[in-house]
Amino acid sequence: MELTAKNLQVSIAGHTILKDLSVTFAAGRRTAIIGPNGAGKSTLLKVLTGLNEDYRGQVTLDGEDIRHLGRQRLARHLAILPQGAQAPPDTTVERLVDYGRFPYRSWFRAGNPRADREAVAWAMQVTHVEKFRQRQVQTLSGGERQRAFLAMVLAQQPDILLLDEPTTYLDIAHQLEVMQIVCEVNRRYGMTVIMVLHDINHALQYADEIAVLKDRHIVRQGPPREVVTVSMLAEVFGVRADIFTNRTGAAVLSPVALVPRP
Ligand code: ADP
Ligand code: MG
Repeated sequence: MELTAKNLQVSIAGHTILKDLSVTFAAGRRTAIIGPNGAGKSTLLKVLTGLNEDYRGQVTLDGEDIRHLGRQRLARHLAILPQGAQAPPDTTVERLVDYGRFPYRSWFRAGNPRADREAVAWAMQVTHVEKFRQRQVQTLSGGERQRAFLAMVLAQQPDILLLDEPTTYLDIAHQLEVMQIVCEVNRRYGMTVIMVLHDINHALQYADEIAVLKDRHIVRQGPPREVVTVSMLAEVFGVRADIFTNRTGAAVLSPVALVPRP
């Protein structure tokens, strides 16, 4: 499904956070959103997923305004893993993953227990957390916990998966593991991925499109190698960087110095 924002404007406590922001996320893609701290990336994800309804402009899913979809229907199409997600106390992994099934249930309708069980089992398998199913979420390591949360949003079986800095605080092996799981669900199941990444090297390696958020709107969007250039890094992040090619042919950047302020 295609997710589009048109002329978004978001103000919080009298400050304009996003303005004239328009962007399209094509179906089946893995798009990384990058930009400086405080640029409004998390704010944008909340608007795109209906968590923040206090905005001007329009967000559409395959042409339909998300304001008309209703929270539960929207949640069958879009799942978001927010930054620093927390589990309620005394929650097992299996229970947490099962929360992902909420869009398919309601107080008057039990849903489909078999479909729920299958989705939960599938999500735990894809993220390799089956062996932790009975563990309390708070006893897991950072990497294990992040995979459990990933299982929760995958159990939602959305068309579009939105992730807000999914690798922050993880060691490099666990970062790779998370990114590989995300790439796998995109390739094998065609799930569209929109992820805020603070590590531009991850964006270069794992996204097939990069959108840059700066000065309240998207300033660039395109293939990673066209977007991530020495001049973009200087303009947007104020950093002088070298860009290399690693042994797999992937571009890798190395920040060298801050660009002197004028
Ligand atoms: P990013 O995710 O790119 O780091 P955010 O979307 O979290 O940026 O925040 C963008 C700006 O909006 C920041 O300046 C932040 O301080 C401000 N902001 C976000 N949420 C709130 C809020 N609830 N109250 C006040 N300011 C907020
Ligand atoms: Mg953020």
